[in-house]
Amino acid sequence: MRAHVVGASGTFPAPGKPAAGFVIEQGSTRVWCDAGPGTFMSLPVDPDLIDAVVVSHVHPDHCADLLAAYHAWTYRPDPRDPVPLFAPQSVWDKLCGFIDKEPACYAFTPVVGGDEVSLGSLDVRFSDMDHPVPTVGSLWTANNRRLYYTADTGPEGDWRSDADGVHVMLSEASVLGDPADKDFSQHLTASEAGQIARDIGAKNLVLTHIPPYLDKSVAVSQAEGTFGKAVRLAVPGTSFDI
Ligand SMILES: [Zn+2]
Repeated sequence: MRAHVVGASGTFPAPGKPAAGFVIEQGSTRVWCDAGPGTFMSLPVDPDLIDAVVVSHVHPDHCADLLAAYHAWTYRPDPRDPVPLFAPQSVWDKLCGFIDKEPACYAFTPVVGGDEVSLGSLDVRFSDMDHPVPTVGSLWTANNRRLYYTADTGPEGDWRSDADGVHVMLSEASVLGDPADKDFSQHLTASEAGQIARDIGAKNLVLTHIPPYLDKSVAVSQAEGTFGKAVRLAVPGTSFDI
C-alpha cells in the first residue's frame, strides 16, 4: 500500500501547497482521500483513474475540491460514470446545496464511525473523531499493512482503538506548543500527535495539516519529543509505502 501526499497544508492552501489530500494506492486501486483546495489539480494520476473518493468532513479545507472534480467530471463531452464517494452526510448536503442539485458524477454513501467498506484491494474502516462537525478518521488495510489517517481531531474519543499498533499514523498537527495553551481543543498539537502515536504503539508517525504560518521543523521536533523516535512530514508530491 502506498500513500501519495497531494496536499498537507492545514486550514488553507498556499502556492504549490494544497490543503488536505492524499491518494491511497494498492495494486490498481487508487482512492482520493480528502479533497482540500488545490488537490484536484495536483493529483498524481489522471483524475479519471481515481476509483473512489473519501472525504473526512465538511470543513472546506478538506472538501472544497469536490466542486473542482464535479466540474471536471461533468462538463465535458464524455462525463464520467458516477465515482463512489464516502463521507459524512453533511458533506453531501453541503455539496448539493452549493450546486442546487445532486451531482451525478458521484455515487454517494454516507459513513459514520464503525462503518467498513472495501474499495478494490483496500479495506477501509471509519471512526468518529473529536471535531466540531461529524468527522471520520480512516483505517486503511491491505496485505496486513495498516495506515491510520486522523483527519481533523482533538485527543478525545475512542478513535485510538482503531489506530492501535498501526504501521503508519498519518496525523494532523495543527498547533505547536503546550497542549494546555491550545485555543481550540478539537485539533492536536504536534506533541499530542507524538504522544498518541506512542500510546497506541504506532510504528511510524507522519505529520500533516500543519498551517502554512507554522514552522514545520518545530512541529517535527515537538512530535519527536513525545513519540520518542524520528517523525516524518507529509510533503506534497512525495509518497511513502506502508
Ligand atoms: Zn476541520
